Amino acid sequence: MRFLRSSFEKAAHVASWATHALFGGFRAARRELSGSRAPRPTPWAISFLVTARCMLKCQHCFYHYATSTPATELTLDEYRALSRHLGPFTVGLFCGGEPYLRPDLGEIISLLRRNHGVPLAATTTNGQLQSSVVSQTEAILRADRLKPFGVGFSMDGPQEIHDEIRGKGSFERTLRTYREVKRLARHYPNLSLTVTTVVNAINQHVAADFVRWSARELAPSSSCVLLVRQDPRAGESLKAVDLARYREAQDAAVGSMRSGPLWRRLRPDAAYLETVARHVEETRVSGSRSFHCWAGVNGALIDPVGMVQVCEVFPEHDLGQIGSLRDVGMDFGALWSSPRADAMRAHVNHHAACATCTHETMGHATSLPFSPNLGRLAGLLRRGRPDLTSPARGESRSIASGPALVPIERLRQRPSATP
Ligand code: SF4
Repeated sequence: MRFLRSSFEKAAHVASWATHALFGGFRAARRELSGSRAPRPTPWAISFLVTARCMLKCQHCFYHYATSTPATELTLDEYRALSRHLGPFTVGLFCGGEPYLRPDLGEIISLLRRNHGVPLAATTTNGQLQSSVVSQTEAILRADRLKPFGVGFSMDGPQEIHDEIRGKGSFERTLRTYREVKRLARHYPNLSLTVTTVVNAINQHVAADFVRWSARELAPSSSCVLLVRQDPRAGESLKAVDLARYREAQDAAVGSMRSGPLWRRLRPDAAYLETVARHVEETRVSGSRSFHCWAGVNGALIDPVGMVQVCEVFPEHDLGQIGSLRDVGMDFGALWSSPRADAMRAHVNHHAACATCTHETMGHATSLPFSPNLGRLAGLLRRGRPDLTSPARGESRSIASGPALVPIERLRQRPSATP
């Protein structure tokens, strides 16, 4: 009976996510292609950076330039006001900094899930604050048992390597918190746990083995492997990653998610992870990204002090910024449909950073499902992976067939065109 209930709830989650994804994202994309001047709908995915504060100083962190304090961050009342101006959306990512430093994190997430659907909500934690992580996660899970809630634990390798990257003692604290949160899964089938590993120059030699170890010993719902990006705190040398090591770690993650009974081999999240890996490899090998980015249309980012951004990757940190919610009475729609927003959107796909962007979370999540390239990137139309042993690796040589990027203008003229 318990198994049946859990299976039914999981099926309900998948159906609800797929429906929102289909109707939410494609509606916004269709509006963009038609050039309509109607007010823009709430984007399909919103990344809420609820705080820039963190107790760790991870070497690969790319958000180290940002600062916020409890006095400057958006308050719960301001999130309530914001909620009055948002429509339904599908994906809500609640990140930081360390999100669980906020004692009201659970209330913020539950408020937005209650008012806006958000069938897919997730947060990422370094796991240092056991009591806050366990109690707030349970409150979120209890508030709506029919919606999945994902908690990603950042773990970058075995103890010695993890502590070298994140600070002494951090591995043990993360592991203890993980195990406590894992206990919640017995009572809340809507809990989804992920172990997230960022591959960088320090951990690349152990990343695949660690992913396999964590899948076996910690039994998370899924594994996630990301490639270090942007402007790491410890400098550019962190980005000297051998792509073969990255691929090995991704393959370990996908392999562990698919191992076991037949249904696990059909997991859409494993297929997605594999598609993202294929695209990251292609981008690195060819020096050009091969799908249209829908940042600023399907995805938005709200920073800890209420600044709305189209993209966080642009190295000029003020470039993607549309404006402050506080200046417009928390009216997200007013900012999202403003001329300034259109001016910022004009940089998407055309900024130099877009050419080699490997933003696996908001960059891929908001764009890949709507890409005319999806079939090829997912390996359905063309199998095989980029040749990582090619002497041309890292040079600007396209291994993808057709043009690397489809400009929005071309899509508008020929909506059926494929790259
Ligand atoms: S391609 Fe990357 S850098 Fe460019 S707008 Fe999209 S997410 Fe940002």
